[in-house]
Amino acid sequence: MKFIFGLIIFLLNAFVLKAQRFCATVEQGTVALQNNNRIFNPTENTLRDTVPNEIINIPVVVHVLYKTAAQNISDEQILSQIAVLNKDYRMLNIDALNIPAAFKDRAADCRINFCLAKVAPGGYSTSGIVRKYTNTAAFPANDDMKFSSKGGANAWDSRQYLNIWVCAMQSRVLGYATAPGGDALKDGVVISYTAFGTIGNLQAEFTKGRTTTHEVGHWLGLKHIWGDANCGSDDVDDTPPQYYRNFYCPSFPRVSLCSVDGNGDMFMNFMDLTDDDCMNMFTHGQKNKMRAFFAKGNLRNSILNSYVCDGSLATAGPLPADTTGPVNNAASESKFKIKILSNPVSNSIDFSTDDATNLQNKEVALYTVQGKLLHKDVLKKSTHHSITVSHLPAGLYILQIGSGKETVVFKVVKL
Ligand SMILES: [Zn+2]
Repeated sequence: MKFIFGLIIFLLNAFVLKAQRFCATVEQGTVALQNNNRIFNPTENTLRDTVPNEIINIPVVVHVLYKTAAQNISDEQILSQIAVLNKDYRMLNIDALNIPAAFKDRAADCRINFCLAKVAPGGYSTSGIVRKYTNTAAFPANDDMKFSSKGGANAWDSRQYLNIWVCAMQSRVLGYATAPGGDALKDGVVISYTAFGTIGNLQAEFTKGRTTTHEVGHWLGLKHIWGDANCGSDDVDDTPPQYYRNFYCPSFPRVSLCSVDGNGDMFMNFMDLTDDDCMNMFTHGQKNKMRAFFAKGNLRNSILNSYVCDGSLATAGPLPADTTGPVNNAASESKFKIKILSNPVSNSIDFSTDDATNLQNKEVALYTVQGKLLHKDVLKKSTHHSITVSHLPAGLYILQIGSGKETVVFKVVKL
């Protein structure tokens, strides 16, 4: 009878089209840990140590890579993910109520907070969201999305930012992360746009933003709770040994081969592979391990000296759409089909679009690189637009067309 029951469960698992969590961090993390060269930090001597139990603030930049409109996820979807991180890493998640009584004492408020960056490299003001068109339909977990030259977007300085790339991924991968101490150009986490945040076009089992909570745990040095080996170690004392990963939504207790008592696996830990609905806690041991990376001399210490979430520190205008591309970049052109007719300019900035309604009612704004607004207007129905700049001194200016998600920004040189 037991065998038949087991067989039915197996068949259900095999044939019901229910997605398992698929985290590709194992190989990636191993590579990063082997390549344990410290991230070079020229200002190391000025860095401070952590203060016990201080709230550690992590500035975030989200690189959205899209080929289709659905992949160009909304600002609201991105904000919903930041909100999840700020609940899960502060134990403010409502489903912490579901932690079994046996594990409640081990659940920890990690006292880690996340904010979207307000200052981009170069001092530009930013929303902390970078949108970029790509020709890649779906990325493999091979870091291509981290390089403009490979259809992705370059990382921002990983000493100051947590880079999150959101894109379409191949082979049902929901995400992966680099461990502390790897290549600075690849440092960060990658998340499928179908598992990011709590709203939008999400896969049924992954609608609570826990893929990102899990991957950021890897970025902060945590291993999978089963130690990536049968009854392996995750180097944390208060997570029970566990035979293997758990998928879906087990019921408590789930006792496995190496369980030390009847409480069994901590399958509701964020570092297992259960569904979003069923994971709800980090332990004190995991908290201590993550926070130790911020201590003076350790691999995430520079984040303590990052103030890029303070918008008042921006020293330049809005961030151009792609700072790595040429002025008047192709990515922006492909988005709205806007063409700057000549650049540098003398008397006026002239730009055109194929369809007269394309830019109708869109806002246009011209800024100095210091962020001072010089001109603002709403565009009329036309294929050609012009802004007079003959009265302005020579120099670099920032032209912003559109607003919110639909924004393109150009650097314009006035002679
Ligand atoms: Zn993982």
